[in-house]
Amino acid sequence: MKGFILSTTLVREEDKIVKILTPTEIFTLYRFYGARHSPIQRGNLIDFVIEKNPKGGIDRLRSPVQIPLLSPTLPLFLPLQWENFFQFLAFHFRGISTISPFYYRKLVAMGEELGVRPSLRVLVEGLFEIFQFEGILPPIGKCGRCGLPTGERVALEKNTLHWCHPDCLPSTPHFFSPALGELYLYRKTLLFSQGELEKLWFFLIGKGE
Ligand SMILES: [Zn+2]
Repeated sequence: MKGFILSTTLVREEDKIVKILTPTEIFTLYRFYGARHSPIQRGNLIDFVIEKNPKGGIDRLRSPVQIPLLSPTLPLFLPLQWENFFQFLAFHFRGISTISPFYYRKLVAMGEELGVRPSLRVLVEGLFEIFQFEGILPPIGKCGRCGLPTGERVALEKNTLHWCHPDCLPSTPHFFSPALGELYLYRKTLLFSQGELEKLWFFLIGKGE
């Protein structure tokens, strides 16, 4: 079976609870002695076997082998961005065990794209593809706080991603509205400068605020 490591939690000295996203399920498994020289790192794609726990309870993760997805020639900061993205996904999928094959396919496609296009564009566009798939993107062009049309700069409401006037939502970063419009409607980051894109990325994954 193949899947992406969503999260790992150390439970004893070297044992871990591992969450793995496969095409149809998110498994929670127990891994003995997983800490050293291990392919069990958040964001890795692995081939693995599930061994039923004879005593009931949590099943075991056996024979994990890493499947190379990210090119080894990628810049050093990239694995960290990929890991941050998976940290976001782990939170996004908390409490969920059955999922659509859309996510697995999307993650494989994104991993392959990372060697070809600038990483933050791949990651932010991928996030918005996911939001679009889940139907959680709100309508654009009106302030989520006061209801009036938004202007050239738009602040985003955390969690709901509603557009707001920077004055109505002063505590969060704001962005150029045509760039956001392109992203909300077409999942493209074309109109974002690298600096604005970094600001958006850190806002979305909940860091650097
Ligand atoms: Zn407003």
